[in-house]
Amino acid sequence: MSIQPALISKVIANSIAAEIGFEPGDAIVAINGNQPRDLIDYQFLCADEYLEIEVLDTQGKTHYLEIEKDYDEGLGLEFETALFDGLIQCNNHCPFCFIDQQPPGKRDSLYLKDDDYRLSFLYGSYLTLTNLTQKEWQRIEQMRLSPLFVSVHATEPNVRTQLLKNTRAGQIKEQLQWFESRNLQIHAQVVVCPGINDGIHLERTLLDLASFHKGDLPAVISAAVVPVGLTRFRPQEDELIPVSKEKAVEVIEQVQSIQAKFQQQFGSNVAWLADEWFLIAEHDLPPESHYEDYPQIGNGVGSIRLFIKEFQQTAKKMLPSYIETPRNFTWVVGNAVAKAFQPLVAQLNAVEGLSINLVALRSEYWGQDITVTGLLTGQDILAGLSGKDLGDGVLLPSLMLKHGDTRFLDDLTVEEISKQLNIPFFPVASVEELINNCLRIGNG
Ligand code: SF4
Repeated sequence: MSIQPALISKVIANSIAAEIGFEPGDAIVAINGNQPRDLIDYQFLCADEYLEIEVLDTQGKTHYLEIEKDYDEGLGLEFETALFDGLIQCNNHCPFCFIDQQPPGKRDSLYLKDDDYRLSFLYGSYLTLTNLTQKEWQRIEQMRLSPLFVSVHATEPNVRTQLLKNTRAGQIKEQLQWFESRNLQIHAQVVVCPGINDGIHLERTLLDLASFHKGDLPAVISAAVVPVGLTRFRPQEDELIPVSKEKAVEVIEQVQSIQAKFQQQFGSNVAWLADEWFLIAEHDLPPESHYEDYPQIGNGVGSIRLFIKEFQQTAKKMLPSYIETPRNFTWVVGNAVAKAFQPLVAQLNAVEGLSINLVALRSEYWGQDITVTGLLTGQDILAGLSGKDLGDGVLLPSLMLKHGDTRFLDDLTVEEISKQLNIPFFPVASVEELINNCLRIGNG
C-alpha cells in the first residue's frame, strides 16, 4: 500500500500548528524524514522536541518547517483519515457479515470490509487477526498497540474456521498466547450464531478466553457475547438461524451460570451479555453493579443501564420544575429501548411546560422486529414520523449517524429528512445534550 501525504482537515485554534500557519487542505509528507503510515506513526513521530516537517500546501508547493516544542506537546492537527496508506481489508467470508447484508447500489465506502488493527487500537473496532503479516505483528509488539479488540467468535479451530470461512482462523489460541507472553491485552467478542458456535462451543470459548484472564495484566480483559444480527438483505443460501426468544433465554441462562463461576474464580464476570439478549428474551436488564467498569460499552453491553444512570444524575442537576415557554418535542429511538426509556420520558414530562413524545421505531429498512437505536436509518425515520405531529422538533440520538457526519446508515442525511418532514432535527450525542435541547431550544 503506498503512503499518501496526511491531509489536514482541521487546525485547532491557539495550537502550535495554528501559530505556524497550517491550514486545512495542507498535507504532511514527512516528519524528521519519515513518512507516517497512519495516525499511530504520526503521534509517535511527533513525540520529539525537534521536528522537521515536509508539508505540501493546497497549491501543491512543498515547504520545510522546523518546530521546537516539548516532546509531549501535540501540534493541534486533525486529519481527514487515520490511515494514510489505505485500509487493511478483511480476508474472511463470514456469513453473518453486516457489510454483505446491506442493499446494493450505495456508495462504495459502505461496502469496505475493515479488518485493520490500527483502527482497532485507535477506535476500538473489532478485528479477526487473520490478515496480519509478520511485519504487522512486529509493529504491534514494538509499538505496544494494546489493547486490541478481537472478534474471537469461537476458540475451537474448526468452529472458528467455519464461521470466518478462512483456514487461517484456527490459530486464535496461539495468537492469544502471543498476546499473553508479551503482556499485551485484548477485549474479545463472540457473535453467537445459533447452531454453529452456541451451546457447548460457546461454553468452551468462554472458558478458553477466561484462561487468559489472569494476573495484573490479563491478556483477555473482557469478552462480549453478542447475538448475530440478520437483515432482510442477507443472501438466501446462508446457513444462519436468527436468534429466537427461546434461544436468547437459553444463552442468558448459560452465560449467567458461567459468570457466577468466573465471579468466584476471578472476582469479575469476565464475559458479558450484550443488552440485545435481554431485549429479545423480554427479560429485565441486569443491575448497574453487574457491569463493573463497563469494559464492553462500545459493543452494546450495558449501554442502556449506563444511559439511564447518566440520565438520573444529569436530570437531578439540570431539570427545573417548570419552563417559561412551553415546548413540545419528539424523541425518536429504536423500539428495543421503548420500555426502558419510559421512566425517563415521565421525568422529562414532569417539568411543567415540557412535553416529550417518545417515538420508538422498528427498522423496516433492515427488516428487524427489534431494532436498537443505532441501526435506525433515514428511511425508517421518514416512514415512522411522516404525518405525525412532531411538535417543535425531533431529538435524534446521534448514534444513528456516521461518526462526525450527518449521514444515516442508508446514506440519507439529517438535512434531507428535516426538509422532507419540514421540522428541525436536533442530533443529541449525550444525556446533557438531550436535556439542554429540551430546555433551551426555542429560547430564540
Ligand atoms: S471479519 Fe468482519 S468484515 Fe470480515 S467478513 Fe467477517 S464480519 Fe465481515
